[in-house]
Amino acid sequence: MSNFQQYELCDELLTSLTDLKYSEPTATQEACLPDLLSGKDVAVEAKTGSGKTLAFGLTILNKLSQTPASAQHPHALVLCPTRELAEQVSYQLQLLAKKMANTKILPLFGGVALAPQLSSLRHAPAVVVATPGRVLDIISQGKLDLSGVKTLVLDEADRMLDMGFSDQMDWILSAVHKQAKGVQTLLFSATFGGNIKSLSKTYQKNAEIIALKDAHTRANIDQVAYKVQADKREYAVAALLSEYQPDSAIVFCQTKLEVASLAQKLSDDGFTLVQLQGDMEQFERSNAIILFSADCANVMIATDVASRGLDIANVGMVINFRISDDLDIHTHRIGRTGRAGETGIAITLIDDSDEIKLIGFNAQLSEDIPIKQSQALRFHANRIKQPAYVGIQIDAGKKHKLSKGDILGAITKQAKIPSKDIGKIQVAAQKSFAAVKLRSVKRILMMFREEKVKGKRIRARKIE
Ligand code: ADP
Ligand code: MG
Repeated sequence: MSNFQQYELCDELLTSLTDLKYSEPTATQEACLPDLLSGKDVAVEAKTGSGKTLAFGLTILNKLSQTPASAQHPHALVLCPTRELAEQVSYQLQLLAKKMANTKILPLFGGVALAPQLSSLRHAPAVVVATPGRVLDIISQGKLDLSGVKTLVLDEADRMLDMGFSDQMDWILSAVHKQAKGVQTLLFSATFGGNIKSLSKTYQKNAEIIALKDAHTRANIDQVAYKVQADKREYAVAALLSEYQPDSAIVFCQTKLEVASLAQKLSDDGFTLVQLQGDMEQFERSNAIILFSADCANVMIATDVASRGLDIANVGMVINFRISDDLDIHTHRIGRTGRAGETGIAITLIDDSDEIKLIGFNAQLSEDIPIKQSQALRFHANRIKQPAYVGIQIDAGKKHKLSKGDILGAITKQAKIPSKDIGKIQVAAQKSFAAVKLRSVKRILMMFREEKVKGKRIRARKIE
């Protein structure tokens, strides 16, 4: 049986892989790791949820372990199309680099203040994971020295290089190549829209192209289309959620207005949900992700800002409020479920006028997505899943030397809450998050109001 020992990875990485319970490489990792680790330029087209992040994470960090980077400059630059993805990838690389000394992984994205990011850059990050807009700002101010970059990764490469971003990307890529020599350039996506060769030719040198045949098969995602009347879509979503009762579902809408309207309707119906769209403040976007992934909300209603790369465990269902015009968008949306070999259900609502798009998808995929009629679907108010936890924000974090253990200790010992009432705890730089059972919220908030934690008064509040 194969495992990660077959690759020449440094001991720190092998230890982290064991700690993180990655015992076997996925088929995708097996197909691309030898070329990636040999230092070649590689373009990888492999299905959603197949572990592409770990593949480039190991590549970057193993190279880092072999060639100590100059202390001041990042050794690798990873570009992602959305802030949430940059944050997620950065977090995954942090976990992987845990055993490697002085290996700081820094996320840089817009929507938050620039000054703290600039000061973090002065502490020599080994890897920068960024969105194009923010990193472009920083490079053009001369605040990011790219001369030490050995690996450049474009995650969701087709999205990054498509029309909207391509000028920015060209500028960033030429800045990297101007300052650094011998850069290994890596492209990853589940979809290249048939352009993998031409994109590779433009951005890479003598690249290995690894387009996995099963990139488009979704054996583990059960797809169904429901026929709806154009004005019954919102009712259909409520009905489907109460019928299937997924613990966790993402509904993709086409526009921000659709998100807002559906959110209003579903919360009036009694669902506990979060919204995610590009007009929200960054702290609201971050809260949405954290509440949804910590099981403090069962439904996330989102635009396509959530369709690329997000890896949230146990999302059992994706609903497309409308069918997308483009098969690649559809592929990424439904790929939020059925990750890492799990199974998932993807439901697409269609009316008479857009049935033709579904027929088009079927033809392109040689699939036959069944069409069901929605007349029989009923909304059952008594079958609405409720979230397991409520989210609490704590106004202190790593910068205040607060750790996960400190929070757990305060809640269990000071507030005397049994640990079975506590879910996910996350500590960020300035603040922290804890998911707790509803019945324990009051006591925990009272404890924070009345007692000191680690010798300090720390404010805490329920996230609404
Ligand atoms: P992709 O980028 O291909 O869509 P991700 O890199 O987000 O997929 O990985 C999907 C999930 O699979 C993640 O939760 C990740 O932790 C998990 N994963 C990655 N590699 C392995 C592995 N070798 N064994 C088990 N789980 C893995
Ligand atoms: Mg990915």
